[in-house]
Amino acid sequence: MFKVIKLKSLLIVLVALLLTAAILLTAIFCARKESAATAFSPLPKKTVVIDAGHGGADPGVTGIRTGVKESELNLKTALVLGEIFLSAGYRAVQTRYDEGSTAEGDFDKTADMKARRAVIERAAPDAVISIHMNKYQDASRRGVQVFYVTESSRALAENMQKHLNQTMNMPTLGREFEPLKGDYYIADNGSIPSVIVECAFLSNPIDESLITSADYRLRLASEIEISVARYLKESA
Ligand SMILES: [Zn+2]
Repeated sequence: MFKVIKLKSLLIVLVALLLTAAILLTAIFCARKESAATAFSPLPKKTVVIDAGHGGADPGVTGIRTGVKESELNLKTALVLGEIFLSAGYRAVQTRYDEGSTAEGDFDKTADMKARRAVIERAAPDAVISIHMNKYQDASRRGVQVFYVTESSRALAENMQKHLNQTMNMPTLGREFEPLKGDYYIADNGSIPSVIVECAFLSNPIDESLITSADYRLRLASEIEISVARYLKESA
């Protein structure tokens, strides 16, 4: 009898131990699974569309000193801007990735612009940044100027222009710009904040030599990304 009771007690202890072990293992497994799920479920990425203005048979304006094409500088600036956004964790979509136009077939400006709009609509971005170069009859005019069309783009334009004044315009020119409102098809995207950045005046030889430098384009693109990131964070 004593032996049976002892055996029973041992069995109970054994079952209790097994149960505890099973509970502990389940808890550890679940915790691991949860931390793995946390580690591998990324936050939804913000999307930006970057539009390198002109391209194909449309070179845009040309440099006063070297004749460099705006389309070429726009593309170089847009591509480096895209790289910066990608490395900051954004989804960056370009309207063109080479010197060709956005629309297929023979060059047609209207078709090209509509193809750019289609890229924007497909991407459903949080912001659109169109990259251009400026030109003015007074060759002394210099600096980075931001344009916008819709009221939903005003805050982005103001934030970006202010940031570019502090980081680019004031140090090199000692002057500030106000963002300008205009009527531009590419920046007219309903509720999506959209701006045009006129990166430099190709009618000015100093601006022309600055923007033809990869270092300057990288610096400008970094400041553009900072201002967009800050705006998207604040408006979230
Ligand atoms: Zn242009």
